[in-house]
Amino acid sequence: MYPDRVVSGMRPTGTMHLGHYHGALKNWIRMQSEQPCLFFVADWHALTTHYDDPSIIEKSTWDMLVDWLAAGIDPTQATLFIQSKIPEHAELHLLLSMATPLGWLERVPTYKDQIENLANKDLATYGFLGYPLLQAADVLIYRASEVPVGDDQVPHVEMMREIARRFNYLYGKEKGFEEKAEAAVKKLGSKRAKLYNELRTGYQQNGDEAALEQAKAMLDDAQSLSMIDRERLFGYLEGSRKLILVEPQAKLTEASRLPGLDGRKMSKSYGNAIALREDKEVVTKKVRTMPTDPARVRRTDAGEPQRCPVWQFHQVYSDGPTQEWVQKGCRSAGIGCIECKQPVIDAIIKEQEPMHERAQPYLDDPSLVRAIVADGNEAARKLAQETMRDVREAMGLNYG
Ligand code: SF4
Repeated sequence: MYPDRVVSGMRPTGTMHLGHYHGALKNWIRMQSEQPCLFFVADWHALTTHYDDPSIIEKSTWDMLVDWLAAGIDPTQATLFIQSKIPEHAELHLLLSMATPLGWLERVPTYKDQIENLANKDLATYGFLGYPLLQAADVLIYRASEVPVGDDQVPHVEMMREIARRFNYLYGKEKGFEEKAEAAVKKLGSKRAKLYNELRTGYQQNGDEAALEQAKAMLDDAQSLSMIDRERLFGYLEGSRKLILVEPQAKLTEASRLPGLDGRKMSKSYGNAIALREDKEVVTKKVRTMPTDPARVRRTDAGEPQRCPVWQFHQVYSDGPTQEWVQKGCRSAGIGCIECKQPVIDAIIKEQEPMHERAQPYLDDPSLVRAIVADGNEAARKLAQETMRDVREAMGLNYG
């Protein structure tokens, strides 16, 4: 099979905040040392909802890249790039659109939700309907094995898998496929070739899933095979088609959810966010003025942490003993709200200190970020071009 690879992107539509950090970036930082990762700025996706005012996209793109680096994304481990600099995403999107049933796009649950949530925008556009297909192209073009997502994005990955499957079914039929596959079987060596044929028969005639898995594992280990022969043999196991696009798996992220200052989802548009690189003074002021349990009108009134957004911050930021101190102190009116908020303020400031430090060199010299992205664009484009060569060939477009 193709090498394991994680692909994920974010839309540059404004300042990044701590909700993004706890919800996604922390996972990216963990994954970057576990397997090859490609992280991209989804600027074309930003246009699907900001087509009438694209002015924030450029600034948000560079700010977001500094935020990623500040948070701990390491460009020596992960590839960072900008979607619109890899035109092959658009080409694959267009080609996939030819064979994608409209109903697949219309039934994506977030499509209707977003249209309702953003009722002030006219989203009855071709681009907005097609954005899950562009997402599919973003991932399939790198033959990603995994896409990190929250629960709400799982149907998108499911659709990506259906699109890849359909593409392989429609275009994986190569001229002389069987002869080429049989020649590739011989390259396995006589012992392994015999085993491959037995396992293939076991799967195709008896539906033996264990035989299929054993054969796949054997192909994974067969270092002597070229990538194309390996793909032919994977396809030959299950039928008579080559696997050109890879079906990615959804990797559910175990994100801790940090709500906004008012307890709703953290979002710049709600005015309840703490920016990723917020000044200390602003952090202090924002947390000090956070709403608390409405029943605690006076210092002497007992409160209930479950009704208080500050408690949700303690759940992300405080250790066991501090959480116990909050629970007891709040319910007995033993502590005041200002006192209760201080450990949260301290923890956020401590979390952000290394982020400010890491960001500084990039703020002093923006050409450093440009250089990182130029390298990332080049590396990503190389991978995208490899896939597009196979896609064009499979669709009969490699003439002229
Ligand atoms: S003591 Fe803490 S948890 Fe209780 S209401 Fe005040 S801020 Fe909220």
